[in-house]
Amino acid sequence: MGASRAFDDKVGAYIVGETLIRLAKSRRKLAARVVSVGTTQEEIGVRGATTATYSVNPHIAIAVDVGHATDHPDCDNRKYGETKLGGGPILCRGANINPKVFDRLLKAAQKLGIPYQLEADPRPTGTDARAIQVGRAGVATGLVSIPLRYMHTPSEMVDLEDVERCVQLLVEFAASLEKGDYAHW
Ligand SMILES: [Zn+2]
Repeated sequence: MGASRAFDDKVGAYIVGETLIRLAKSRRKLAARVVSVGTTQEEIGVRGATTATYSVNPHIAIAVDVGHATDHPDCDNRKYGETKLGGGPILCRGANINPKVFDRLLKAAQKLGIPYQLEADPRPTGTDARAIQVGRAGVATGLVSIPLRYMHTPSEMVDLEDVERCVQLLVEFAASLEKGDYAHW
């Protein structure tokens, strides 16, 4: 376990940076150009994601953010679902999420044999995914969330195993992309 202020979303930035390092070191031949972006102002109107999507103009994108771990007594699981520290990356489904991107993330997790958790978000997500999806002419967007307890407090907590699994998942997802995938997404 790790505890820190502002894991939201420092831990997401770490995961994305580590993913790029591992992709570069692996020497796997990638069909896609992989670009990372550290966005500003996510919490107050997803403005950084809006301008970054315009600038990068991606075919496919994954937002990496933290997600509420609901495994503490203060949280009503009937309202917020069941997600826990140590349960692996949270894969989101919902209106902002392209189903084929979701499927590919799911397959990547299954191929790696890592645990994962599912989250339903029928309204706009509280993440950059909601801006990226409707950027430019539209982007096939997915969302990977790191389970995090006590969000927006000075003692946010994550499980470092979950962090590692998120890196592995994103590496596998990037490596799984084939030329022309996005044309059908
Ligand atoms: Zn937040």
